[in-house]
Amino acid sequence: MKKIRVIGAGLAGSEAALTLASLGQPVILIDMKPGRMTPAHRSEKLGELVCSNSLKSLQDFTATGLQKKELELLNSQLLSIAMKHRVPAGNALAVDREAFSEEITRLIMDNPLIEYEEAYLESLPDDDLITIVATGPLTGNQLFASIQEKLAEESLYFYDAVAPIVSFESINMDVAYKKSRYDKGTADYINCPMDKETYQAFYEELIKADLADLEDFDRKLVFEGCMPIEAMARRGEDTLRFGPMKPVGLTNPHTGERPYAVVQLRQEDSYASMYNLVGFQTRLKFPEQKRIFRMIPGLEKAEFLRYGVMHRNTYIASDHELEATFRLKSDPRFYFAGQITGLEGYLCALSSGKIAAINAYLQNRGEEANFVLPEETLLGQLQTYLSRESSKKFEPMNANFGLLPPLELRIKKKQERGMAYRDRSLESLQAYLKKHAIISEAP
Ligand SMILES: Cc1cc2nc3c(=O)[nH]c(=O)nc-3n(C[C@H](O)[C@H](O)[C@H](O)COP(=O)(O)OP(=O)(O)OC[C@H]3O[C@@H](n4cnc5c(N)ncnc54)[C@H](O)[C@@H]3O)c2cc1C
Repeated sequence: MKKIRVIGAGLAGSEAALTLASLGQPVILIDMKPGRMTPAHRSEKLGELVCSNSLKSLQDFTATGLQKKELELLNSQLLSIAMKHRVPAGNALAVDREAFSEEITRLIMDNPLIEYEEAYLESLPDDDLITIVATGPLTGNQLFASIQEKLAEESLYFYDAVAPIVSFESINMDVAYKKSRYDKGTADYINCPMDKETYQAFYEELIKADLADLEDFDRKLVFEGCMPIEAMARRGEDTLRFGPMKPVGLTNPHTGERPYAVVQLRQEDSYASMYNLVGFQTRLKFPEQKRIFRMIPGLEKAEFLRYGVMHRNTYIASDHELEATFRLKSDPRFYFAGQITGLEGYLCALSSGKIAAINAYLQNRGEEANFVLPEETLLGQLQTYLSRESSKKFEPMNANFGLLPPLELRIKKKQERGMAYRDRSLESLQAYLKKHAIISEAP
């Protein structure tokens, strides 16, 4: 059987390669790791979570919870690895990023059907192999220019930001405290309380802090999606107190008082040795991050394991370029998956990697690539969203209930509405999968 090539062993590419191998399909998986990294990647391992370690809600009446249920029915391998390496985070699926990537790397490297090739590609290959391009939001300029040659539309850009991570042992727990908002669920977050005076001093420094430079041409582009903390602060003195630094429900057990503002830290790894500052994605220069974030009570001596950064995020105008199968309209040898398609976030990367792989597999077997999920499902709607031509500027998208067709009966209560979406989606997906035996072929 002719091999299928996957370029990029991030989340989408790893899910694609493991899916193909589970179907008995030989794969060539190419990535520049470990020899070379994008500006956001730090680990030599494959399937790296570049920023947050959270794959969002597990509650199946929320959109990201339902997306997980749908992925489970599709046998998503990366999702089951994530479940295996869960760390406490209330109702969210947060994972130990090291253990997660370690296992993905091992499964890929040990799989006799996957041939891993370390290479930095500067152009798309031009042969008769079917190729899935999953090089992510930081696809290098040369490769992107080569992709661009196949596209009718201009490529698009926007920005994403990551929050800093500090070590647990450097947090002063005589000042900070563990607590969940209104004591709901388990106390997974560490809270750093601020009084009014401290908040105002912190705010004053934050709004005048030095920012890292942007390249000139990037400066003109609009910031969307992931707002840095300093930009949010500049909207007004109280904006942070009503946003990521909201103190409600977080009474300080050391004093019995409700703080004026709170910085929350979320566990990063299963050893609970690393914590990220929730909502603190930033473009501050590194020394400024150290100086200003150390003004936060409890973080006076914080050891920064990773500083926050901002990066360009590149994606194609998929509504003009891709079919719902993730195949490129202008050249059917190519499929795209992951963030480069404009689908946002970790879960969408897994979803698109899975679906693109199944379609590529069908095509490689000489069958019709027609794995398009029902319209009642979130994944099916993401496929439709990507491939539905529109005159509006194409915007990135993640899974949300707004994509789904309305329910027959109007349900007012949010949670009940979510449950109805869930039941309808899973029923139609199960029926669809029964007809398309392909998923059940996988072990
Ligand atoms: C700074 C930043 C922060 C983010 N934070 C979050 C977050 O907190 N939560 C979230 O859900 N999403 C976040 N995202 C979006 C995130 O990128 C995606 O959710 C996810 O990583 C996309 O997976 P992917 O497989 O498409 O790309 P990636 O995971 O980026 O994988 C791409 C792979 O392709 C390889 N590659 C790239 N170019 C080449 C080349 N020319 N030759 C060979 N190999 C190449 C890379 O080495 C990499 O392994 C963030 C993105 C950025 C840039």
